[in-house]
Amino acid sequence: MKAPTIEQQGCQLEDVAAYLDGELEGVALDTFEAHLKTCLNCDTEVRVQRQLLCTLDFAFNKSGPFDVPHDFTRVVTAHAESDLRGMRKKGERRRAIQLCAILALISFALLGAASRTLVFDPVRSFLRVTGSLLGLLWQALYDAGTGIAVIIRVVGRAAVFGSHGRALFLVLAFIISISLLPLLIAKYHRAQIIE
Ligand SMILES: [Zn+2]
Repeated sequence: MKAPTIEQQGCQLEDVAAYLDGELEGVALDTFEAHLKTCLNCDTEVRVQRQLLCTLDFAFNKSGPFDVPHDFTRVVTAHAESDLRGMRKKGERRRAIQLCAILALISFALLGAASRTLVFDPVRSFLRVTGSLLGLLWQALYDAGTGIAVIIRVVGRAAVFGSHGRALFLVLAFIISISLLPLLIAKYHRAQIIE
């Protein structure tokens, strides 16, 4: 390697290349090393060229200790990516489950609303009909009760001479029955309207 010698402040850049190639020996090596300690330019040049050589070595050297870390890094990166993908899938699954739960709740809510119109409303109308039927039954019992009261009154009138106390009681019962009569008539008419 015979690069052209460039004189620069008494520096020989040819010596830098030779020094890095390990071609300098003996006095030449000692002289150059002594010169490096005093010359910043040559020292910088040596450092830059050495760094460049190391970079080139790192870039082009396919054998040796660099192979394993390179593949290792690639494998690790691939695994990390796949793991991340798995995590993303897990997250998506969780989100899907949450979405399903929300949809189920909405469905239940809609079902509830539907059941209110399909089930509760018929039940309510059934109860309303039952209530009016019970009212009619109550009306019939009430009428029967008043009938019984009338009978009692008739019987009481027959026994009016039994005692003054009983006569007073029967008079009171009669007055109560009379006062209840308009109410009974009104209820009877209302029952007829419902029918
Ligand atoms: Zn120099």
